[in-house]
Amino acid sequence: MDSVLRELYQQVILDHQRSPRNFHDLHDPDRRAEGYNPLCGDRINVEIKLGEGGDLEEVGFTGAGCAICTASASMMTETITGKSPADVARLSDSFRDLVTGQAEAGDVEGTLGKLAVFAGVREFPIRVKCATLPWHTLRAALDNRRDPVSTE
Ligand code: ZN
Repeated sequence: MDSVLRELYQQVILDHQRSPRNFHDLHDPDRRAEGYNPLCGDRINVEIKLGEGGDLEEVGFTGAGCAICTASASMMTETITGKSPADVARLSDSFRDLVTGQAEAGDVEGTLGKLAVFAGVREFPIRVKCATLPWHTLRAALDNRRDPVSTE
């Protein structure tokens, strides 16, 4: 990864860790799920309020995660608010491909936008699950799965 992207990655992670967006419970959410990453100890709750057409009108998260998990959840909520569940599935697949190295940042940048900086996670394989936990949890909430999500 070039140094510009690495620096951007570090800045973005720090910014979102210090002031996570949408870091709160929702009033009367339509969907919610819990996620846990035993490798790191990240715990996260994702709540969703659905609009009339089934789009994600409001998304909030709470919990205690490491910097990568918190930043990933924060940026995820920013990106998906107002999107449809189909958009969310596409974004979530692209994000997974990006952080696991199955796609290059340039290939998925059009889809992921700012989330493309998470290509930086690849250099720390143990952190991949920290970055994907919020997305797993989000999809579990959308699918109405009752059991808490675990990355293991
Ligand atoms: Zn973590």
